[in-house]
Amino acid sequence: MKEKMKAARFYKVGEPLRVEKVPIPVLGPEEVLINVKACGICGSDIHIVYEGVTPTAYSPITLGHEPSGAITALGSEVEGWQVGDRVTVNPFITCGKCINCLSGNSQICMSRRVIGIHTEGGLAEFLKVPSKNLVRLPDHVPFDQGGIAVDAVATPFHAITNRGALKVGEKVAIFGCGGLGIHGVQIAKVCGASVVIAVEAIDSALERAKKVGADEVINPRKDSPVKKIREMTDGSGVDLACEFIGLKETIEQALGCIRVGGKVVVVGLGSETVFLPPPTTFVRTELSLLGSYGSTTSEIQNVIDLVASGKLNLSDSITAKFPLEEVNQGLNHLHKKIGNPIRIVMEID
Ligand SMILES: [Zn+2]
Ligand SMILES: [Zn+2]
Repeated sequence: MKEKMKAARFYKVGEPLRVEKVPIPVLGPEEVLINVKACGICGSDIHIVYEGVTPTAYSPITLGHEPSGAITALGSEVEGWQVGDRVTVNPFITCGKCINCLSGNSQICMSRRVIGIHTEGGLAEFLKVPSKNLVRLPDHVPFDQGGIAVDAVATPFHAITNRGALKVGEKVAIFGCGGLGIHGVQIAKVCGASVVIAVEAIDSALERAKKVGADEVINPRKDSPVKKIREMTDGSGVDLACEFIGLKETIEQALGCIRVGGKVVVVGLGSETVFLPPPTTFVRTELSLLGSYGSTTSEIQNVIDLVASGKLNLSDSITAKFPLEEVNQGLNHLHKKIGNPIRIVMEID
């Protein structure tokens, strides 16, 4: 086997990634080496490269946390996997021992690290990961869909099914229909929401939301989302509002559109302080405001099963693909929202 591989490396905020040759990772006993076939680019990568608001653990570092590919080597203690198996990867490296890991909440492991942010990532020909992070990819699920499933789809899945605990027949509002929110719309439908209302300032994204199942759409530049959602729900409000943007304004709108006893789940990352209603309202309405971060390996498995069975259709979720050498073009497409992308995927061979 060769000793070097191509990888897209981040050096400094505001500088393009450098595609260069680096050593192929050496495996520990519980790790597998994956020949990466596809790796999605995420808003977090934009935060890292252009904005500097998500610091990496060190630099230079290979980015990429939505990888999929085929196993090419196994550590000495790995069981249940074989060379050639098609896989996707939970990007969270977790300890397995802390209170959160032990209670099934590994997404908030006390010593959580994310591949491509804290350890070497998937924008490379090869990637090493712990075997416990693997999810099998059926032959008919393409690598690009398998890659984006682990974050762009599993993150809203966790937000809606776990944190939001959506029940069949409930009404849901989705704020933001970009790379995460559009899948939030689809998942709410799959989970049996009676009404899904999409709130999004870009008309073409609203059209897209309608296409994947949104029952009602609101452009906040034209209508007040709180007023409209109240009208659409006979004044009572939705059971669950999920916010995928991370802005004070949209989180406060989400708080304004839920029913008494309803929930707001915030997935969008932002730095503004959000004001809560006064305790007289907050307490008497038993309002729930919840954060939601990432997902677990078993939730990624659920998502892959939904895709494999045809219940969740990701075929329109990949807006453009680029070879690894053109990684900066891919990042630029997402950063500048060229073609209003859901997901940009790098193809690697
Ligand atoms: Zn991400
Ligand atoms: Zn842990």
